Amino acid sequence: MGAASSAPVAIHWFRNDLRLSDNPALAAAAAHGRVIPVAIEDPALVAAHPAGAAFAWWRGRALAALDRALGGTLRALRGDPAEALRALAARHGASLITWTRAYEPWTIARDTAVKAALAGARLQARSANGALLWEPWETLKPDGAPYRVFTPFYRRGCLGAAPPRRPLPAPHLDLVPRAPDEPGLAAPDEAPWQARLGRLWRIGEDAAHDALQGFVQERLAGYAKGRDFPALGRTSRLSPYLAHGQLSPNQVWHAVEAAGPPEDVAKFRAELGWREFSAHLLFHFPKLAHAPLRPEFAAMPWRDDPEGLEAWRRGRTGVPLVDAGMRELWQTGYMHNRVRMVVASFLTKNLLIDWRAGARWFADCLVDHSPASNLASWQWVAGSGADAAPYFRVFNPAAQAAKFDPQGDYIRRFVPELARLPDRWLGAPWSAPAEVLAQAGLRLGRDYPRPLVDLAASRQRALDAHRALGAKA
Ligand code: FAD
Repeated sequence: MGAASSAPVAIHWFRNDLRLSDNPALAAAAAHGRVIPVAIEDPALVAAHPAGAAFAWWRGRALAALDRALGGTLRALRGDPAEALRALAARHGASLITWTRAYEPWTIARDTAVKAALAGARLQARSANGALLWEPWETLKPDGAPYRVFTPFYRRGCLGAAPPRRPLPAPHLDLVPRAPDEPGLAAPDEAPWQARLGRLWRIGEDAAHDALQGFVQERLAGYAKGRDFPALGRTSRLSPYLAHGQLSPNQVWHAVEAAGPPEDVAKFRAELGWREFSAHLLFHFPKLAHAPLRPEFAAMPWRDDPEGLEAWRRGRTGVPLVDAGMRELWQTGYMHNRVRMVVASFLTKNLLIDWRAGARWFADCLVDHSPASNLASWQWVAGSGADAAPYFRVFNPAAQAAKFDPQGDYIRRFVPELARLPDRWLGAPWSAPAEVLAQAGLRLGRDYPRPLVDLAASRQRALDAHRALGAKA
């Protein structure tokens, strides 16, 4: 191998950072010497925290795109990461291992163990922040405690801290070619649902930047007002690229700087702030993952209703905005934020089904699944979170449809059996007069379900259950 073989070698372990640009840990590996890129499937972590099917599908495609950008040098290993990294380092004489930090409590525990094992093998490990604008310990209250409420967290904790680092360019990489006996990526499966998702999304670092530019140029102006209307498509749809690390939050934060009206830029950045807040909460309150943050919610009399849960999952509740959202999720791997709130409220309040069942379904179906954002958002809607919607805030899906989907374009797109119903009745077909239903060719209970619950009565049931807990607003 000549002169190159005497140069120092670093391994970069790709995890939640499937990109070359603005990747400080990868840049550290490149600065050290020749670089070996690796992705590792850790069966122990997967068993305890399985990746959802849609998320795993996106990740497979994202890894394939990354491997192409790396000239086919990505090693794809499976097993205990400490063992895999130790063996790879021994084979290539690598002295440094780098990775981007992740902040879920279970990943931190695993990474701490990996670091200790590598130190025991006299290997240097270096992790860097490439996933958050501010690390969870950089945004504490003046007294050192974590924030529990978004507004002071964002205003004081984030905007009062040092501004987010400017993005780094992709480093020049002197890559160590992959030997024939070193495993590369397996060809991805292509089940029909995966092929369908593949027609909807472009996956890869270049595609991520195109999506970012498209948003900044075409939809940033007007974001603050337009973001709540699911049919308008005015949000960025960058969440999957952020969840898989094909874009860094720093790239997104700085791309919008002075690129649109100040109120739109500020609103959009505040949404990135919610992503930071979610990570902050899960980091400082690990029980967010499995238990209510408000202790009184432990006694919530959740209903055991497998049929209701299944109807919700399949978009067959008979409540059009809820069904449209659940079908959007199933068909596209994504759901608009306003509708996520509505379907989550319907499950946890109108159906009184445990938020954890909803969070699990989202985790399985979302291409942008992020444990922190998902868990924090579910607890927010359920009312059990640190900063939560007041318990008496029960979204009325019919009123939400009238307000945020006034022409019914979103409902008609995903619930086509209602397409001929006049706008006025689209959010609540059960209240339409018989002749209106007949004219629209709609037989409730046959062409489209009758509502699973009466919205007013189920709302009252939820309020009573919350009051009995002693829930506070
Ligand atoms: P934009 O409006 O363009 O926002 C820009 C970015 O800010 C998003 O890409 C996202 O990274 C971040 N963001 C926006 N809103 C939120 C929010 N409320 N909380 C945290 N980050 C936010 N988001 C996920 O990324 N992964 C999840 O698993 C997830 N689960 C959710 C579950 C529920 C019940 C709810 C109510 C929300 C959830 N969200 C989740 C938050 C939000 O719905 C999505 O981030 C947003 O819809 C993504 O679309 P976008 O990229 O067009 O958002």
